[in-house]
Amino acid sequence: NRFSINNIRKEFLEFFKNKEHLTEQSFSLVPKNDKSLLLIGAGMAPMKRYFTGAEKPPAKRIATCQKCIRTGDIDNVGVTARHLTFFEMLGNFSFGDYFKEEAIEWAWEFLTETIKIEKDKLWVTVYDKDEEALKIWNEKVGLSLDRIIKLKDNFWELEIGPSGPDSEIFYDTGIENGCDSPDCKPGCECDRFIEIWNLVFTQFDKDEQGNYNPLENPNIDTGMGLERVSTVLQGKKSVFDVEPLISIIRKVEEISKVKYGVEAKKNTAMKIICDHSRAATFMISDGVIPSNEGRGYVLRRLIRRAIRQGKYLGIENQFLCDTVQVVINEWKEAYKELSEKESYILKVISLEEEKFKTTIDQGLELLQKEIDIIKEKNVDILDGSIAFKLYDTYGFPLELTEEILKENGFNLNKDEFVSIMEQHRKMARNARNKTGSSGWKDEQFNIETSKTEFTGYTDESNASEILS
Ligand code: ATP
Ligand code: MG
Ligand code: MG
Ligand code: MG
Repeated sequence: NRFSINNIRKEFLEFFKNKEHLTEQSFSLVPKNDKSLLLIGAGMAPMKRYFTGAEKPPAKRIATCQKCIRTGDIDNVGVTARHLTFFEMLGNFSFGDYFKEEAIEWAWEFLTETIKIEKDKLWVTVYDKDEEALKIWNEKVGLSLDRIIKLKDNFWELEIGPSGPDSEIFYDTGIENGCDSPDCKPGCECDRFIEIWNLVFTQFDKDEQGNYNPLENPNIDTGMGLERVSTVLQGKKSVFDVEPLISIIRKVEEISKVKYGVEAKKNTAMKIICDHSRAATFMISDGVIPSNEGRGYVLRRLIRRAIRQGKYLGIENQFLCDTVQVVINEWKEAYKELSEKESYILKVISLEEEKFKTTIDQGLELLQKEIDIIKEKNVDILDGSIAFKLYDTYGFPLELTEEILKENGFNLNKDEFVSIMEQHRKMARNARNKTGSSGWKDEQFNIETSKTEFTGYTDESNASEILS
């Protein structure tokens, strides 16, 4: 199939190989030598040191298909047509080599000539002060001005370091998919215009005073969502409807006896299970194990959220191994780590599911009771102590409790939760100091048995992502 995910991935890498790029396997989802990141969320992330100049890249032109996790998009999964927590990002990169003109022209060539997307369906946005990019799109590519939208937000930067304007390419799925806003155009949050490719022109080095100093050798960093391009090419409505994501959903249908495409809330549940099964599979294959801190906590949160959605669909037995098996089968050709670690992945999933299965029903029951109580009392906020009990005794990630509350129109007293958590952590620390056990043992202990340590909070860089 010309439009399959496997084929587009291959075509992309070949296209840039022909433009003298070194093509590389995806880096791990777990960042190396980078404490600022919990998980890789973009193609450029594992190559940050090449962009800052801290390390010399193996080539000046590189292209990859990078595994990405974005937990920041979790609430959009199954709600928008285009967001996943795990996705593959295609990217071409120039380290002080080619710049704007080539990046734009090659992107256009790939989209319209190699994979043959209809030109009439494409729109682009540029940074409003980036006359150079506007000119290339208009004069070199020949895109008419009414298809080029100037936005003041199209600028990519961190606190300091490489930064610059970007230009995004959108596909118009048709007016029938748009919202009612009179300015529904590319960049609108609705699903009419799907952003498929982002071209970032890192041409400045931002210093501590906030000055943008032009780089002598500017860089190119691009990112295109593989699942999104497939959706467009296969003429589907959402990323969940493309092969082989749909085969995970078919498996959920089979297990739950619920038909996909009939009821909105059930569709969302099926999509969440599909996405989280994929994310969990790839995270485990890259060495993450469920725990109460950092990456392990992200993984645990995804698995437990999927299990709860399974409950919602009326699934009684353990089921995640079946959906994960589909993920392994469908993606192992492209990612050999999946077949190499097949039995290990299934083991980790089944242990984690078993653990939560024993407490989820009681936890849900407790939470429902508490919701009824506050409803009765006419308050809209739940005590943090209840969320702590759910976390500590029933294994409910904080976010899961918050999500269920939100669905019912209630909030959580999170500050209270945090302070109880702090107290328990202190107590646990004191107890440990008394027994004088080694740090290594502590860590083992935390992962295996401790329910009181919410260590996700101890590392600030982790906390921001977990709590975002
Ligand atoms: P959006 O505005 O749709 O949320 P974005 O601007 O956050 O996308 P970028 O950070 O520019 O996305 O990432 C580059 C590309 O990766 C996007 O153009 C898109 O094709 C893809 N992408 C980004 N986030 C997701 C996601 N959550 N699921 C699937 N693909 C994604
Ligand atoms: Mg986004
Ligand atoms: Mg965007
Ligand atoms: Mg973007």
